[in-house]
Amino acid sequence: MIARTLFDSDHEAFRDSFARFLQKEVAPFYEQWEDQGYVDRELWRKAGENGFLCMSIPEEYGGAGADKLYSVVQMEEIANAGFAGLIGLTLHSEIVAKYILNYGTEEQKLNYLPKMASAEMVGAIAMSEPGAGSDLQGIKATAVRQSDAAGDFYLLNGSKTFITNGWHADIVVVVAKTNPAAGAKGTSLLLVERGMAGFEKGKRLKKLGMKAQDTSELFFNNVRVPLDNLLGGQPQENQGFICLMQELQWERMQLAISAVAAAQAAIDWTVDYVKERKVFGQAVSTYQNTRYTLAELQTEAQIARVFVDKCIEELMLNKLDVATASMAKYWCSDLQCKVMDECVQLFGGYGYMWEYPITRAYADARPQRIYGGTNEIMKELISRSMGLAAK
Ligand SMILES: Cc1cc2nc3c(=O)[nH]c(=O)nc-3n(C[C@H](O)[C@H](O)[C@H](O)COP(=O)(O)OP(=O)(O)OC[C@H]3O[C@@H](n4cnc5c(N)ncnc54)[C@H](O)[C@@H]3O)c2cc1C
Repeated sequence: MIARTLFDSDHEAFRDSFARFLQKEVAPFYEQWEDQGYVDRELWRKAGENGFLCMSIPEEYGGAGADKLYSVVQMEEIANAGFAGLIGLTLHSEIVAKYILNYGTEEQKLNYLPKMASAEMVGAIAMSEPGAGSDLQGIKATAVRQSDAAGDFYLLNGSKTFITNGWHADIVVVVAKTNPAAGAKGTSLLLVERGMAGFEKGKRLKKLGMKAQDTSELFFNNVRVPLDNLLGGQPQENQGFICLMQELQWERMQLAISAVAAAQAAIDWTVDYVKERKVFGQAVSTYQNTRYTLAELQTEAQIARVFVDKCIEELMLNKLDVATASMAKYWCSDLQCKVMDECVQLFGGYGYMWEYPITRAYADARPQRIYGGTNEIMKELISRSMGLAAK
């Protein structure tokens, strides 16, 4: 194995303490959360209390001011423990809070970020709509500027779907057209709070996997959004698409990081299982097919890890380009799904039983190839970087 050089001893000490937190505060309740379709709010509160939310947000806004590698450790440990249903915690800290930090006004940062770090507010990002996922330029939600006797505001209308943390959310970054005639150039990001009249949550969607993660529809019917809730204030009107594009590398790397950690965990569980399981009087591990399959998967997981670690290094230096991040997202999530499939096979029928972590990991892996930009869209971006344009 190639030794990892990304982390120092403080990161590794943090890894231990976060892994212990997961075993103490998540493991005993995880099955119940899967049954109910959402993680208890108490877990969010405890994560906030222990400083595990918004770790890379500066201290003046309530975060820990830690480097991104602490968040990488969190993503790896969540995947390593087989708790993909906690993806909403890292989305809250490393995607939603980052939009507010990077593009919000000082007032917006001071208002929302400390509440997100303490879990008083849970965050979500609402881009996808029933008719627009990959093609975000085609979103239909509109936020039309209006005025009445009480002053100016945006009138927000539209619906969103597949929203991670949607059911828990207290603050949602909503992507809407402020100038519908201008296409992508007419897109803005609005901060919509729970309780605003006309903002309603739909049902929690039943999913193949990630069952403890709430994923919801959101509806906006004539929601009166104050002008102050435009992310970044008035200079950012119609600039939303640019903000979305600038965050993509880190968002895609988060999925690659989880993919590699989940794949490695699955390989490790399977190695343990095949040594124990006896078939025709001998351990499954002694069959050449088992040994070669696991050797191949371990090789690919190792290649993926070295690539992802290098990408993280580049990201930390602000040098990671879109195409390379897209390669990491696509290749690692494909590998994750392949590893899960092969490992389920080696578990035999037990690999299809929900009580086995490998079964959950198999189901949890599948959307990794879909969200964060589908892997086909990743290939579009990679091919464009090679000067290969579609007709
Ligand atoms: C569990 C889960 C959580 C999610 N969380 C969020 C969230 O928090 N916020 C949010 O906004 N969204 C979220 N999403 C939505 C996710 O981002 C979209 O599902 C994704 O972008 C794909 O969009 P779509 O589902 O509309 O698929 P479509 O865009 O309809 O794609 C259908 C198929 O067409 C292919 N395709 C599309 N365009 C092209 C092209 N140009 N070339 C080749 N093939 C193409 C796609 O790759 C795919 O195979 C989540 C989804 C899931 C499953």
